[in-house]
Amino acid sequence: MRAWYSPLYRVRAGSEGFPTEKFALTARLLSAEGALGPAGLVEPDLPPATELLRAHTPDWVGKAVSGGLSAAEEAALALKWSPELSVAHRLCARGTLEACRDALRGGLGLHVGGGSHHAFAARGEGYCLLNDLAIALLVLKAEGKVARAAVVDLDVHQGNGTASILAGREGLITFSMHQEDLYPERKEASTRDIGLPAGTGDAKYLKILEEELTAFLARRPELVVYQAGVDVWEGDLLGGLSLTPEGVAARDRLVFRLCRQRGVPVAVTLGGGYAEDLGDVAALHARTLTTGIEVFK
Ligand SMILES: [Zn+2]
Repeated sequence: MRAWYSPLYRVRAGSEGFPTEKFALTARLLSAEGALGPAGLVEPDLPPATELLRAHTPDWVGKAVSGGLSAAEEAALALKWSPELSVAHRLCARGTLEACRDALRGGLGLHVGGGSHHAFAARGEGYCLLNDLAIALLVLKAEGKVARAAVVDLDVHQGNGTASILAGREGLITFSMHQEDLYPERKEASTRDIGLPAGTGDAKYLKILEEELTAFLARRPELVVYQAGVDVWEGDLLGGLSLTPEGVAARDRLVFRLCRQRGVPVAVTLGGGYAEDLGDVAALHARTLTTGIEVFK
């Protein structure tokens, strides 16, 4: 099993609010555990603009690649554009597409990155410059690799950008289960949205997820891109859904099991995760990926 990752995902300048060290920490944990075997970590190439243009406007792709964002655009993004930041986010868009291709070939694809679900077609938001989830599905759709595909987004924040970009795109459907009283204040309409109250906890969360995801998968997507944000964890600085580490692992196992039982390939992206100790976040992300490997073995 291989996982897509680049050391260039770590951006030092301009990314103060978003802890990019977690990517390197997660990659190191996966390697140390030997979870990937000899295939190991593989680095994505920079995608051509034509791929980014599947989900984004020419104006926004130009800004993402070459800069020139307004102060308001950078404020919404909560990042400062730099050449390094641009490269990191473009590589990350390609990493998710590669993980999807792996999933279509072998059932499971892994990305130690991705899940930039707050990026809209014409602007970025909430640390998300380019929407890797939407880009991947729109590229695969255009290539005829999938007719029906889904994003399953279990980050604590709603997948607003993904919902907006994929709305009305034939065969592409979105599922977002999130904490209702958090950013983004204004939610977009996913195909299926479940907004949960703060303090939901493991038992209630897992029961609702099983019912809702079972019903959603009856739409028979040929591929699921999973945004597995771990900011649902009880120790997260931004989220308040209060899942234990075991609850997060049970969530992931449930997603993988329900998909595998139906013969639906899954590509995993990391999504959000914010803690005082980034080691905690990296351990949760690594466990998501190893859980996927276990279920799809
Ligand atoms: Zn989040």
